[in-house]
Amino acid sequence: MPNATDAPDPEKLSLNTATVKAQWSLAQAIEGCARHGIRGIAPWRDKLAEMGVKAAAKAIKANGLTVTGLCRGGFFAAKDWLDDNRRAIEEAHTLGAQCLVLVVGGLPEKSRDIGRARARVTESISIILPEARKAGIPLAIEPLHPMQAADRACVNTLEQALDICDALGDGIGVAVDVYHVWWDPKLEQQIRRAGSKRIFGYHICDWLVPTRDLAYDRGMMGDGIIDLGKIRNWVEVAGYSGFQEVEIFSERDWWQRDPDEVLRICKERYERCC
Ligand code: ZN
Repeated sequence: MPNATDAPDPEKLSLNTATVKAQWSLAQAIEGCARHGIRGIAPWRDKLAEMGVKAAAKAIKANGLTVTGLCRGGFFAAKDWLDDNRRAIEEAHTLGAQCLVLVVGGLPEKSRDIGRARARVTESISIILPEARKAGIPLAIEPLHPMQAADRACVNTLEQALDICDALGDGIGVAVDVYHVWWDPKLEQQIRRAGSKRIFGYHICDWLVPTRDLAYDRGMMGDGIIDLGKIRNWVEVAGYSGFQEVEIFSERDWWQRDPDEVLRICKERYERCC
């Protein structure tokens, strides 16, 4: 059984490029990972479009990086959700991504019906899932902290996400992002329920006290109150043996720093706190 006090495998660190999005293009992030010996990368689609999907796939392959996820599909309340998700699946396929992360979206404009929005998430995923299966791309629902239920994701707990997975079958699972789920009293139980069959991604950062912004004030691992060792232990006991992906949105701190310094500190904290 893995022990949380063991240092994590240095080969299993991944950089979600949001962590340096203010400073670097995707091409620079790919080079940065290679330079710092970070073996995984998870690009966002806006930066991917800037670089070009084929050029990105080529550069990622040339540097021997694993694409631990593509961010993101989902937003099922948006008008063009179907075409957009089809494009996302195609891009994930071209990149050889381990999964496409789904941020499912909140309420449609002027709606107060969160129950309907949630039902719509399941319906929408059931429409794209056969295409994702055909492309060989696992879909990973990322439950988001309930403070973002209205505008970013009306799926807010691992339990809720896993109920959707159980309703839909194979090829659909979850991305466990500690920032969104650390507070959940059912977290350990639901991670166990998910098991290796459903856990497609594991995202790390920290929760700062106080938090000054609902979306853009995430902390570096070790700077907040999340017990990262414990949660890592839970996901490993559940059978997950994939990458730990650092994802830090931080307008006032980490996006202001020299990105090489950010990557250095990510590595150091990963080894010490995760
Ligand atoms: Zn995440």
